Amino acid sequence: MTAATRIDELTATRDTAAERVRDHNERVRREAEERFAALGGCGTCRGRGWVVTWDTLDCMQGSYAEYDSCGEEACTPATREASGYHPTNLKYDRNRSSVWYPPAHEEAHREQLVRASERANAELYDEVERWTPAAGKLVEVVKAGGGKKAFRVPVGTIGLVKRVFTNDWGTAKAVVVTEEGAKHFPAFKLLAVVDPEPDTSPWDQQEAAARKRDGVPMIVMVKRVTPKAALVTLVGAQEEHWVPLSQVPELGKAQVGKATSAYFPVWLAREKGFPIPGSSTPV
Ligand SMILES: [Zn+2]
Repeated sequence: MTAATRIDELTATRDTAAERVRDHNERVRREAEERFAALGGCGTCRGRGWVVTWDTLDCMQGSYAEYDSCGEEACTPATREASGYHPTNLKYDRNRSSVWYPPAHEEAHREQLVRASERANAELYDEVERWTPAAGKLVEVVKAGGGKKAFRVPVGTIGLVKRVFTNDWGTAKAVVVTEEGAKHFPAFKLLAVVDPEPDTSPWDQQEAAARKRDGVPMIVMVKRVTPKAALVTLVGAQEEHWVPLSQVPELGKAQVGKATSAYFPVWLAREKGFPIPGSSTPV
């Protein structure tokens, strides 16, 4: 199933669920109106026994309204007792504690329908989110951007999103790396997600190769490994160093208490004061 079909399907489910809530509300209200009429409810006072004789337009809550008893001769406490309230609530009903409420079993049913509607809405939202470009998703450039042709990313380019960012002109962009290792910076709106959960091993291998190419090999003793960093010493040295696994991922798989070889980015090796081969001044 394509992403568009799935989203269409979830949209239809969401709409149906919302419609069920509306239909329910209408039915409950209609039934209450019919019952009120069948039981001889008074249309003048909506079964409340009072009418509004004056109100100021300055108060939205109707707190200053003035009331009188219902003038209908046929409207008595007994008939009102029989008919109950008409389901139309006015702002005055809150002030006069005469709010009509739907029957409890209908209300429980409505809550169920509302929950189903919220769930359908969340599922749709999640699916739309899933197909929105973000780091770690495989995307395709589906629209030609503006600007000089020489700088445009060709339509049909497919690659892994490394991260998204906003440039100095406020344009949302993505860093997209192709399987061959070419890096592009297309505008976010030109992209469509091809695979939200792709197999990233070709890119992982690419990065490992780049670290090997651009990094310096170090033999270190691993003392501790946490989810984010490793505590190491250079073999033959005492000083301990925390190394982020984001910079030297091999250390995440290293065995604690054993010497291991890993490629460090040059800047990190320099920062830690590790000897850099081919450099006579390790600062
Ligand atoms: Zn009445």
